[in-house]
Amino acid sequence: MISSDVIIIGGGAAGIFAAAVLAEEAPELKVLVLEKGAKPLAKVRVSGGGRCNLTHECSDIRTFVQNYPRGGAELIGPFHRFGPAETIEWFEAHGVPLVTLDDGCVFPQSDTSEDVINALLKSGADIRTNSEVCRILRLLPRDNGAPLASLGSKVWKFEGGFNVKLANGEQLACKKLLVATGGGAFIEGLGHAIEPCVPSLFTFKTSDKDFTALAGIVVEDVRVSAPGLKAEGALLITHGGVSGPAVLRLSSFGARTLAETKYRFDMKINWLPAQSEEQVFQTLEKFRAASPRKLVGTWSPVGLSSRLWKLLVARAGVDGTREWGACPVKALRHIAAQVSGFVLPITGKNPHREEFVTCGGIRLKEVNFQSMESRLCPGLYFAGEVLDIDALTGGFNLQAAWTTGYLAAKAMAAD
Ligand SMILES: Cc1cc2nc3c(=O)[nH]c(=O)nc-3n(C[C@H](O)[C@H](O)[C@H](O)COP(=O)(O)OP(=O)(O)OC[C@H]3O[C@@H](n4cnc5c(N)ncnc54)[C@H](O)[C@@H]3O)c2cc1C
Repeated sequence: MISSDVIIIGGGAAGIFAAAVLAEEAPELKVLVLEKGAKPLAKVRVSGGGRCNLTHECSDIRTFVQNYPRGGAELIGPFHRFGPAETIEWFEAHGVPLVTLDDGCVFPQSDTSEDVINALLKSGADIRTNSEVCRILRLLPRDNGAPLASLGSKVWKFEGGFNVKLANGEQLACKKLLVATGGGAFIEGLGHAIEPCVPSLFTFKTSDKDFTALAGIVVEDVRVSAPGLKAEGALLITHGGVSGPAVLRLSSFGARTLAETKYRFDMKINWLPAQSEEQVFQTLEKFRAASPRKLVGTWSPVGLSSRLWKLLVARAGVDGTREWGACPVKALRHIAAQVSGFVLPITGKNPHREEFVTCGGIRLKEVNFQSMESRLCPGLYFAGEVLDIDALTGGFNLQAAWTTGYLAAKAMAAD
């Protein structure tokens, strides 16, 4: 049986970064990466539309972690050890000059993920592709091994290493094992509790055809809400529904709640969250007094696009061809209610094309975030999206992969 000091399962961002760090920190260790796909780093290649938004500007780690609906608290310590600043330093030191855009997203200056991939692969890590792991056995001194899952959530008292079985029947042995598989059915056999996996970061579909006829309109600062959830930011009306930062934020923070609704709920849109409904009403009243001969549906006194305004007036049940002066107070109240609480029926979700992540994975309480080692099984480590960590769009997901991969590598090297 071929044996290694360390086997890393998964040749994605977390696994390959861990391998690169191990190659530098402990070149004497025999490290093998097993990747089921034909090429490593497949997601990194397509990340950020092929440009790879590899991290995000950070001036304060406690603010930075607010971008992680799951895992933020656990990542505070790790980010102090290897956070965005260290990531930028690492890639620049490895020949990838970076640029930080106005929105804080960090990309390679070359605008291509290939440069990130080349830097990661430069370490010369031993990567075996087309090598799917289908089972892990713990190695005990006196028996031939037992499946990890058979141990349930008990803390294991052995330190005998691991036997890794590939789908082609081959078996490999190692002293330490890093699982960086991103997710998938395989992790269910690890003896760790798994938080249910559901999509995060998506856009919404609606059946409201009058609304989608407004496709292309962007409103900068809106508040969107669903039962028990709310988020703020820009909103984009699409041909099928709604997208934009406010929507992505809602879908990320509400990933589990929204999955329970089967993505069918009434989303409320407050088009002017800086003002209360009463203030909107007063603005309309003032406008009516100042411009009684203007037509209600022609343009918006609250700065919204005229096409959107026309829809809000119609939804308020007010005839847009009427003059403002002829509008009773009740009509103004109805229009103000549409500005502050437009109801959009959501009928499903679409993936966000730029970045796609799943929430769920290995329960964080069962992992030591100093070392990324399992609290249940010495010698077993986790990194990347296989953990119940996910973030908003903007480079935060890859940052979690670099950080957890780095900590796992450092801990394995130090041992
Ligand atoms: C289209 C897209 C764009 C994205 N853009 C960005 C972005 O710009 N910025 C950002 O921060 N994040 C982005 N993300 C998210 C980011 O890519 C992921 O969060 C990150 O790549 C996770 O890395 P990982 O190594 O944990 O998992 P993965 O990248 O999923 O890697 C896991 C690897 O393990 C392998 N594997 C799985 N099971 C087995 C097995 N049983 N045996 C052997 N190998 C196995 C898989 O084939 C895979 O290669 C994007 C994601 C997508 C899909």
